[in-house]
Amino acid sequence: MIVTRFAPSPTGLLHLGHAFAAITAANAGGRFLLRIEDIDIARARTEFAAAILEDLAWLGLRWKEPVLRQSTRFDAYRAALARLAAMDLLYPCFCTRKEIAEEIARASEAPQGPEGPLYPGTCRHLSPDARKMRIASGISYALRLDAQKAAAIAGVLTFIEHGKTLAVAPLLFGDVVLARKETPTSYHLAVVVDDAHQGVNLVTRGNDLLAATHIQRVLQTLLGLPEPAYAHHRLILDAEGRKFSKRDKAVTLRDLRTAGETPESIRDRLKL
Ligand code: GLU
Repeated sequence: MIVTRFAPSPTGLLHLGHAFAAITAANAGGRFLLRIEDIDIARARTEFAAAILEDLAWLGLRWKEPVLRQSTRFDAYRAALARLAAMDLLYPCFCTRKEIAEEIARASEAPQGPEGPLYPGTCRHLSPDARKMRIASGISYALRLDAQKAAAIAGVLTFIEHGKTLAVAPLLFGDVVLARKETPTSYHLAVVVDDAHQGVNLVTRGNDLLAATHIQRVLQTLLGLPEPAYAHHRLILDAEGRKFSKRDKAVTLRDLRTAGETPESIRDRLKL
């Protein structure tokens, strides 16, 4: 049986792009699950989580309970981090954003990743003593994946995208951040741990997350998790041809509903 999920972050109300993603996931699956990605305690709000469930129900979607809230899963993420640490794949990084930008500006070449220039690896070379001293001083730090080491252990990987086999580029995100001192996970780590926990075997989501699949396949392999298939879908663009986003005050489902739209007219708008 195909198991899919819709995994919104409760940092705002759902807009048309979310509606498309949710309906696509629900239509693809035998079992449709919901996950609230609320690891960012500073930005996630329970009111938004409640509004999301309400909007999805209004759209006519039905999911299999329980809804998984990532904020209840920190122990599972800590366990995954401990496993990576035991393989010596993590290192603490004390660089500020400014320091990283300066280091990149100084470098003769700065490889680009999907989210901008890759971390230049400054803290990878710190001695164990230097690490201990800085951690003991109480300053904040991130845990980064040693991508070269991780790629060597993971070996040659592929993923299935819409039935086609594609090669994984394990170094695409470089030494990506997997956790911070105050948050024991990152988006990538939480997604792979929870997709496995929920038995998701078909990941449907927007094309903007296609690149994330590369690092997520690496993490799945290192953590011994099953490999889901992937089906990234087109993005719903606004009148100016841009991706809908919370920042742009995109039209929310709430606004559309107040303006008299129905679940059927929303589906028509999305050409579903
Ligand atoms: N929480 C992510 C978002 O709202 C989606 C995660 C995923 O589907 O992998 O963009």
